[in-house]
Amino acid sequence: MTRLLELKGVNSFYGNIQALYDVNLHIDQGEIITLIGANGAGKSTTLMTVCGVVQATSGRVVYNGDDITRESPNRIVAQGICQVPEGRLIFPELTVQENLDMGAFMRSDKGAIKRDIEYCYDLFPILAERRRQEGGTLSGGEQQMLAIARAIMAKPRLLLLDEPSMGLAPLVVRQIFEIVKKVNEEHNTTIFLVEQNANLALKIGHRGYVMENGRVVLTDSCEKLLADESVKRAYLGL
Ligand code: ATP
Repeated sequence: MTRLLELKGVNSFYGNIQALYDVNLHIDQGEIITLIGANGAGKSTTLMTVCGVVQATSGRVVYNGDDITRESPNRIVAQGICQVPEGRLIFPELTVQENLDMGAFMRSDKGAIKRDIEYCYDLFPILAERRRQEGGTLSGGEQQMLAIARAIMAKPRLLLLDEPSMGLAPLVVRQIFEIVKKVNEEHNTTIFLVEQNANLALKIGHRGYVMENGRVVLTDSCEKLLADESVKRAYLGL
């Protein structure tokens, strides 16, 4: 199994506020890793540290065997890591089709781009129906679908998803998570999923990590985490 990403003893700060404390985690090629935790636990900071928006003050971020701790976000994206940030930042004045084209702007393999656009439309038929509509006129769920589809168009090796369920109806969330699983299986995309919706996120993940106050406090297979009494109490409302 190829170790795709590893965080080793990572500490990250905002100014002098420490957000991550000695974070250790890894992701193997082909996995869906779920990171859960309460508001402010450090989940988004972990993702931002991976993609270089926040730089780890100490510790190391290793991607595909290379130390990327001090790399710029641009170089990290160019190496195949793509993030769908919280709040689905699509281009509201561009059409659905143009948003998808933007996702592929770093690629030159025109034939494959065309095929991937069709793949996205198969995954999200509603986007195909709305391909000429401006992104800003879509519903919240459709915008989230577009944000994910646009990221798929970059053909990432590692896709970082920050709270894709935020603000969406349960049915839409379930739909989106099913598609995330499909992309992992069919498109061979490794996925790092950050979620507050622990129940669904643990159901589609292979392994999971639990964060509290900037620290990883628990890690196991998602199956075991779902059955863990402390996880049930704190994150599953059981
Ligand atoms: P949420 O689910 O609310 O996004 P989270 O688990 O993703 O929470 P982070 O956003 O990573 O948590 O926040 C971790 C800590 O860092 C929190 O204490 C938060 O207040 C702090 N923090 C986050 N962003 C900033 C910032 N730009 N400046 C200062 N502190 C920040």
